[in-house]
Amino acid sequence: MAEKGQGRAIGIDLGTTYSCVAAWQHERIEIIANDQGNRTTPSYVAFIDSHRLIGDAAKNQVANNPINTIFDAKRLIGRKFNDPTVQSDMILWPFKVIADSTNKPMIVVTYKGEEKQFAAEEISSMVLTKMKDVAEAYLGESVNNAVITVPAYFNDSQRRATKDAGAIAGLNVMRIINEPTAAAIAYLVDKRATFRGEKNVLIFDLGGGTFDVSLVTINAGVLRVKAVSGDTHLGGEDMDNRMVNHFVKEFKRKKNMDISGNPRAIRRLRTACERAKRILSSTFETNIEIESLFEGIDSISTITRAKFEELNMDLFNTCIEQVKMCLQDAKMEKSSIHDVVLVGGSSRIPKVQQMLQELFDGKKVCKSINPDEAVAYGAAALAAHLSGEGDDKVRQLVLLDVTPLSLGIECNGDKMVVFIPRNTAIPTRKEIKDFSTAEDNQTNATFRVYEGERSRATDNNLLGEFCLEGIPTAPRGAICFNVCFDIDANGILKVSAGEATSGLNNNITINSYMGRLSKEQIEKMVDDADKYKREDEEHKKNVAAMYAVEDYAYETRNTIRCAAKLTEDDKKKMEDAFESFIQWLDSNKLAEADDYKNKMKELETIFNPIIAKID
Ligand code: AMP
Repeated sequence: MAEKGQGRAIGIDLGTTYSCVAAWQHERIEIIANDQGNRTTPSYVAFIDSHRLIGDAAKNQVANNPINTIFDAKRLIGRKFNDPTVQSDMILWPFKVIADSTNKPMIVVTYKGEEKQFAAEEISSMVLTKMKDVAEAYLGESVNNAVITVPAYFNDSQRRATKDAGAIAGLNVMRIINEPTAAAIAYLVDKRATFRGEKNVLIFDLGGGTFDVSLVTINAGVLRVKAVSGDTHLGGEDMDNRMVNHFVKEFKRKKNMDISGNPRAIRRLRTACERAKRILSSTFETNIEIESLFEGIDSISTITRAKFEELNMDLFNTCIEQVKMCLQDAKMEKSSIHDVVLVGGSSRIPKVQQMLQELFDGKKVCKSINPDEAVAYGAAALAAHLSGEGDDKVRQLVLLDVTPLSLGIECNGDKMVVFIPRNTAIPTRKEIKDFSTAEDNQTNATFRVYEGERSRATDNNLLGEFCLEGIPTAPRGAICFNVCFDIDANGILKVSAGEATSGLNNNITINSYMGRLSKEQIEKMVDDADKYKREDEEHKKNVAAMYAVEDYAYETRNTIRCAAKLTEDDKKKMEDAFESFIQWLDSNKLAEADDYKNKMKELETIFNPIIAKID
């Protein structure tokens, strides 16, 4: 972790659909706009023949290059290939995902004419690199440290994989924090001046791919998370999918054509649906018109807000159920909530706001913090706090977060022995001493670590396992172990076990489970990331040189054409040279910067003597 005073730090909201970056600058937290002037950047990476595109440029070309444009990496990160959510998402993605030998999902693209495979961490690291570049361009200095946010319901392996993505992007990840907690920090920093006493605040964070609820208590600078709940697979994209399915069916009904197998048509339909969904947040009806959607046939349709709500009502109900669960877990009545804060683009949906308002007996929901930017804002406040920047409000921040899932080990008969119940404040440590051997003369003991709420261990999520070997032989029950669970401030878990008489000790290296990247793989990806970055820079240089010679050719041609003093002969010489240059350029769009520079010199030797006659 970066110590106080060790350089600039930023906060990054690494979203499923959009990402956002912020930093402490000019005595306040600033959201940093990207090179297009946008304050959020699409979490998209595209691979084309000559180079890689990240952010707006990648999203803008998605309809033409659907199979090599990657989005939703966050839905894959830290998951196994055979995870049911991966399997159902894959049906809707135009890009290809396969399993590697460890059952890790790998994204397959064609880049520079070759097939390449990328882990979700690598794609996320590319988005993080873009956000780092955006921050560096604005701050005018290099940035090495970052606080990155994750959904509160991300499990241990998803958090670790996100941390790995940061490392591949060359960032020192100071802290991984929960998105709603970051939003609560933003609320605290924003509202602190008006605070009197303790406040209970419910953060309702409905984004593109995930949904989180957090109940936090804020008193002075201390932010205590009481409970979290949510769903790592519920967001605006699911609503887009519902709309896409609706229009696919409608097209089939009206035109008797099935467009579901055509990635380009589906992609164009999804883009139109997402736009319509946003419009429906402020109007009651909108049109969806897509020219030549399939086999030259246009799609012209309308959708009402009521239809949109009907298509998604079960998703909205799930959100409300999760809010109730969060209140229950925190043992709080809804009447004791002072404020409900909306975060995430999908929290703008009027029906969602109405249902929340009804749940809280008409209490107005707080819209004063920007739902797209609050998470990055809070992450930047924490980054400033950790690196010793910021004002009193930021410096006095004390953050007490909780663990989202219960953690424990498997005991006799597939029983889950919970060490750390969910919603325990972190960092935390729990040691239990009364485990003993289950058989006579047992020489090995295996410890399997699970997360989840089910009483049967194997119904939960296996995080990893480790073994104590060489236990002294003794009758069953005579040898005792102590097992310790330790969760750090990032929510990352370490489990150790020991046997006192023999001094045996071991701890879990949660490395190989669920396809987590090894140290060597991360190092290779860091090298690859550098290589891709160099290639991107090289491409930018080449393109700049191409435009320079093209500009020069056009400008000089126009000057010569308009010059009264020149002979027809000189003008013809110029026109011939110009024509042959344009022909060369048409077939050399992917040349190197030096080729363009040489071409410039060639043109100059022809044009300069002619120009000299004008002066
Ligand atoms: P986030 O992950 O917070 O950036 O949220 C992105 C999601 O919010 C995407 O699914 C967007 O389509 C959705 N979104 C953004 N603005 C609106 C809006 N006005 N109405 C409905 N959904 C929106």
